[in-house]
Amino acid sequence: MKERRVGYGYDIHRFAAGRRLRLGGVEIPGEEGLAGHSDADLLLHALADALLGAAGLGDIGEHFPDTDPRFRDAESTEMTRHLVGIVRDRGWSVVNADLTLVAERPRLTPYKERIRRAVADLLGVDETRVNVKAKTKEKLGPVGEGRAMEAHVVVLIEREET
Ligand code: MG
Repeated sequence: MKERRVGYGYDIHRFAAGRRLRLGGVEIPGEEGLAGHSDADLLLHALADALLGAAGLGDIGEHFPDTDPRFRDAESTEMTRHLVGIVRDRGWSVVNADLTLVAERPRLTPYKERIRRAVADLLGVDETRVNVKAKTKEKLGPVGEGRAMEAHVVVLIEREET
């Protein structure tokens, strides 16, 4: 029998001039980036929280406090890789991950496949186990007004029952 756990992660970041936009570890050229202590890759932040949630290991802030200067401009890819390692060390493997980006701009459809491959690579799973969706907020609220971007991630993990 396999033990299975589900986890959910959420993040939101404001757009900020002079920053580069990174989503799922993929650089999106020519678009305004997001404000944040790290590289502001909100999709990986939500993914990391989903993984930690599933494994019962708290949240990203406990593992990488944003008050710690060591993590200024930290690579979210490296942070996520580190957390994937912690989860894997406890015997877990990822069954699947479903990621949703909510943004009025830029149009994300052209980047979905690249993001999917990058996330699958980070998780060490086949890309058929990863799904990336892009939605708008129908012009409602700060995300709908194009002032921020939001991400939601659900992850299922499993391990042999002990
Ligand atoms: Mg964040």
